[in-house]
Amino acid sequence: MLSATKRTLVTGGAGFLGSFLCERLLAEGHEVIALDNFFTGSKRNITPLLGNSSFELIRHDVVEPILIEVDWIFNLACPASPVHYQYNPVKTVKTSVMGAINMLGLAKRVQAQILQASTSEVYGDPEVHPQTEDYWGSVNPIGPRSCYDEGKRVAETLVMDYHRQNQVDVKIIRIFNTYGPRMHPNDGRVVSNFIVAALNNEPITLFGDGSQTRSFCYVDDLIEGILRMMQSKDFIGPVNLGNPGEFTVMELAQKVIQLTNSRSQVIPREKRKDDPIRRRPDISLAQQKLGWQPQVPLEEGLQKTIAYFDGLLQEG
Ligand code: NAD
Ligand code: UDP
Repeated sequence: MLSATKRTLVTGGAGFLGSFLCERLLAEGHEVIALDNFFTGSKRNITPLLGNSSFELIRHDVVEPILIEVDWIFNLACPASPVHYQYNPVKTVKTSVMGAINMLGLAKRVQAQILQASTSEVYGDPEVHPQTEDYWGSVNPIGPRSCYDEGKRVAETLVMDYHRQNQVDVKIIRIFNTYGPRMHPNDGRVVSNFIVAALNNEPITLFGDGSQTRSFCYVDDLIEGILRMMQSKDFIGPVNLGNPGEFTVMELAQKVIQLTNSRSQVIPREKRKDDPIRRRPDISLAQQKLGWQPQVPLEEGLQKTIAYFDGLLQEG
């Protein structure tokens, strides 16, 4: 059944997750405004939506304030790949912090409900495994990942302060590594890197010995979790959204090679500084509060993602 039509704003709407979210919101009958500065997002991601009369696109940087009448704000604007967020770290902090202030200020002014896309990176290199929402994290405040990790932590702080101080209706989700079609081929994150290398029969680069673990969530599962969270009653979060299946990065490389029938070799490289050793979400809270858990196993999600990149590479 359709919930009442909402006027929604999706910042980062031309990005990987944002474009899927826009598509899903339109399918649910909502009006969608995608706002993006196209740093890592692209018009290509949302081209199919441009003909929909319920969809609008605004080129705008969240670092600057904006006034729009909306009911729901999904604040996703922020580069998510280490390669991209480290390209201009000062800008990354500004995007997270000033972006959150501007979007929370907007939510306050027009009385919108706002959902902040936070991240598993707020747990840093975690001493608690799997990670539960009540764990405060182990984050280096001065390292190369800090612009992203600390930026997102301050964004969470702002969300809670606007809620306590100004009664803004807020939600926080902590997203764990999510993958799928529409990731940029040069995005730099592990799943797209490995698939593109494997399809081209080029070397697959492992940072460290590949024993570090991640938990990979397929994009459709994540979008379902985001919508359930936005529609939940009396639940602010933060809530972990991710797939609890845990794999080493070496296992991921081997799976990708097998599924693509690739001749690629795995090449070890120096470990990245502050690269978390283990990461896996405890999703008990999401199960209990949202009745949510991922449905797509890694192999199935990888196959869909491989098919997407295969098509993209054929296009040239
Ligand atoms: P992405 O890089 O594909 O998308 C980010 C989008 O935000 C892009 O379209 C980019 O152009 C836009 N953007 C960046 N800075 C902006 C600014 N200053 N003003 C306006 N737009 C700006 O990344 P994604 O994977 O789609 O991530 C979306 C959100 O989810 C991010 O906030 C990210 O931190 C969060 N997240 C993602 C993952 C994941 O695994 N995909 C994990 C944890 C958190
Ligand atoms: N990684 C890798 N090779 C790559 C890209 C990433 O070995 O080409 C590793 C990286 O060091 C990390 C994991 O894969 O341990 C996940 O990296 P990603 O950049 O996708 O996201 P992170 O979880 O580190 O933010």
